[in-house]
Amino acid sequence: MSITNQQLFDRAQRTIPGGVNSPVRAFRQVGGVPRFIDRAEGPYMIDAEGTRYIDYIGSWGPMIVGHAHPEVTAAVQKAATRSLSFGAPTADEIDMAEAICKLMPAVEQVRLVSSGTEAGMSAIRLARGFTGRDAIVKFEGCYHGHADSLLVKAGSGLLTFGNPSSGGVPADLAKHTLVLEFNNIAQIEELFAKRGSEIACVIVEPIAGNMNFIRGTQAWHQRLRALCTEHGAMLVWDEVMTGFRVALGGAQQVYGIRPDMVVMGKVIGGGMPLAAFGGRADVMAKLSPLGSVYQAGTLSGNPLAVAAGMAQLRLIQQPGFYERLSATTQKLMRGLEAAAARHGVPFCTDSEGGMFGFYFSTRLPQNYPDMADADVEVFKRFFHAMLDRGVYLAPSMFEAGFVSAAHGDVEIEATLSAADAAFAELARG
Ligand SMILES: *Cc1c(COP(=O)(O)O)cnc(C)c1O
Repeated sequence: MSITNQQLFDRAQRTIPGGVNSPVRAFRQVGGVPRFIDRAEGPYMIDAEGTRYIDYIGSWGPMIVGHAHPEVTAAVQKAATRSLSFGAPTADEIDMAEAICKLMPAVEQVRLVSSGTEAGMSAIRLARGFTGRDAIVKFEGCYHGHADSLLVKAGSGLLTFGNPSSGGVPADLAKHTLVLEFNNIAQIEELFAKRGSEIACVIVEPIAGNMNFIRGTQAWHQRLRALCTEHGAMLVWDEVMTGFRVALGGAQQVYGIRPDMVVMGKVIGGGMPLAAFGGRADVMAKLSPLGSVYQAGTLSGNPLAVAAGMAQLRLIQQPGFYERLSATTQKLMRGLEAAAARHGVPFCTDSEGGMFGFYFSTRLPQNYPDMADADVEVFKRFFHAMLDRGVYLAPSMFEAGFVSAAHGDVEIEATLSAADAAFAELARG
């Protein structure tokens, strides 16, 4: 008898809190047993029981060329023979910095780190150091990693500073974070009018991917840009998810807006622990060893991570890559909408490049309260109906989905036929 996911989950829970090393993997929102993955190839993941799934998580975004792409794997193997880490600079890191600066219009200089959390935390410290101000602004439902200053929810009133949203975060720290509603122009205008001179930065996911998929409106983003410029605050775009995912140049290319600083991760590491933050050269000059804002990392710019990231960055720069990726995503979205309509299930979708969201509603959500209103029971039933049929969607209604270049017509057709059966199940009630 081979091992089961249930046996592994039972065993994992004895030595790992909740059995997982990152909470959403535990399937808490949808219930059931997490799949313990043995290996993955192209668009497929295979669990410990040998069951194969079409994967729409892609390690939460990084795997944009599919799993175990031969060129990415070969680059890592080759790098590994030259040692796993040096703790000293390499020529490959310069290649990576040059590639990022070329592809991301707002990035003039960049520093490599090991996780999106680290990148976001460092960007905020730099924004505070550069402006000499303490307050930061974030938006409800956006996720920027788990640094203390960012695990904050709105205070009691619009213009009051925030409260911790996690145990272990000092209220004294959370009070420097203001939390406003996503896509709400009036709120941000009112805030800047009252306390503009206190604000170090506004950090935002241009297209939010951590409350499902919610697009910031063009008008709202333009207003954020203008207000930050007017009041000397840094506009920080967290493109950890959208960077090299919604377009080659990230959301900056989609909106045609230039933030002061950019936070990156996920796709740039090709599945290895690599992230980055960068932006205006005058701002980056404040960073140690040049300036007074300290930041460091033993494994920063790790040679294996850089090799994987560079191999993947080369693949996504091939002509037509994003056109094909978008076409695949579009085909999936139109097919899901048609299947839902056939069974009379209220449903809509949104997507950009290789990132998508779907909602059991007839109207696209605009902010976190819209998403929080959604029916989690319907999502749960749909999730399990799809999983039972070999389609692995994010096990939470508050996550975006991802398509890779390895997803072809065969996988899309198989997904749509699973969806047809899943919607039929929902319609039966
Ligand atoms: C995933 C994510 C992060 C955190 O990145 P980690 O590598 O998980 O620390 C930050 N911001 C956004 C928008 C993300 O999607």
